[in-house]
Amino acid sequence: MPRPQKDRLVGHPPLFTDFKPVGIRRKALETIILSLDEYEAIRLTDHLNLEHSQAAEKMEISRPTFTRLIEQARSKIAQFLIEGRHLSIEGGNIHFRGNTYKCEDCGNFFQSEIDKIIGKCPSCGSENITDFASEFGHGNCCRDRGENSSDE
Ligand SMILES: [Zn+2]
Ligand SMILES: [Zn+2]
Repeated sequence: MPRPQKDRLVGHPPLFTDFKPVGIRRKALETIILSLDEYEAIRLTDHLNLEHSQAAEKMEISRPTFTRLIEQARSKIAQFLIEGRHLSIEGGNIHFRGNTYKCEDCGNFFQSEIDKIIGKCPSCGSENITDFASEFGHGNCCRDRGENSSDE
């Protein structure tokens, strides 16, 4: 498959991916798609309070590219809050640095490095766990990614 854009790096898959105003039916709402790289831009800058340059480095993109990304992400979030939309986090040319899991038996969330395979919940030992990276269509991100090709 051709890769039109260099893959960006995202720390971990998000825990929550679907949002909507309370009391309005999902079907009555337009959907805004927030891509995983836009989500990561928000997380790094507005949640962890990193500088744009630090956040750009973590995602392995240039600073101007990061600035465009965060502006686009904020504009979508503003539209979601003010106009009332269904917001879904999905897609984007990305790979994950780490994975997130949920134990379906005890409800515990936990994280690991992307190259580790976790087969059991560390809290209760259950093997009934959901692998979030694979829910997004990723796995060991992604085995054929090759050496880090240089950015611009
Ligand atoms: Zn558990
Ligand atoms: Zn991947």
